[in-house]
Amino acid sequence: SGRFSKPSEPARRTTFDDVAGQDQAKKEVAELVEFLREPERFQKVGAEVPHGVLLMGPPGTGKTLLAKALAGEADVPFFSTSGSEFIEVFVGVGAGRVRKMFEAARKAAPSVIFIDELDSIGRTRGTGLGGGHDEREQTLNQILAELDGFEGKEAVVVLAATNRPDVLDPALLRPGRFDRHVELNLPDKDARRAILGIHAKPLPLADPADLDTIAAGTPGFSGADLKNLLNEAAIQAARRHAATITAADLGEARDKVMMGTVRTLAIQP
Ligand code: ATP
Repeated sequence: SGRFSKPSEPARRTTFDDVAGQDQAKKEVAELVEFLREPERFQKVGAEVPHGVLLMGPPGTGKTLLAKALAGEADVPFFSTSGSEFIEVFVGVGAGRVRKMFEAARKAAPSVIFIDELDSIGRTRGTGLGGGHDEREQTLNQILAELDGFEGKEAVVVLAATNRPDVLDPALLRPGRFDRHVELNLPDKDARRAILGIHAKPLPLADPADLDTIAAGTPGFSGADLKNLLNEAAIQAARRHAATITAADLGEARDKVMMGTVRTLAIQP
């Protein structure tokens, strides 16, 4: 059976409020909410809504989060898979998984499909040394066939994420495929403050104003980095047997994340 993750009832739906900053990207994705909520309205007047949307941006900037928020806002099932899951499968297995996932999503329509790390399957074809990579090429071809197989009216939106749009096979970007592009960026100071605010909500901070200092002192941090920072600060506080997270905990956690020493430890479910 397919190894894509099937829609489950999450404790709470992800919404656009969970995504801090990224205003332009949110606005572009929000246009699809209406279509997913009420596809008939668009179908009745023959309006063709794009099926394929490419989310582009550095790691940890909220591409997955935004895709989930689209499904959450529209209140439709979310099917997701990652390109990296297709790398070492046997020939034909990847293509079969793709076919099954699209089949399930069509059956559940209106629905959202999310393909993370599209570049790991969608790199330009024919560059593999010795012409290998058959399984990857078949998986890619199956994705292209599924996208081409949509009739204008099917209410399935396919989002794919990449941080390497430059290496993608141009076939993926043709009209009717991933022809709409949405860019996500590393957060600026205000967006970093907003991201810290979201993830610090359940945490006992000694002084919430400490987050302003951290936001100002973390240029180049992604949303994922900021989330890791808070978790690391909470771990520090627990090690001290403290009841609150202080500016010192936050500062130390910031340095650790900056040096890359917590990345592997603090990967969150
Ligand atoms: P990757 O390219 O590494 O898969 P991504 O762009 O898909 O990364 P996410 O997996 O969505 O990034 O982000 C990781 C986590 O970081 C999210 O679950 C979320 O908790 C946090 N995060 C990232 N960006 C934001 C944001 N803009 N607002 C709030 N939280 C964010």
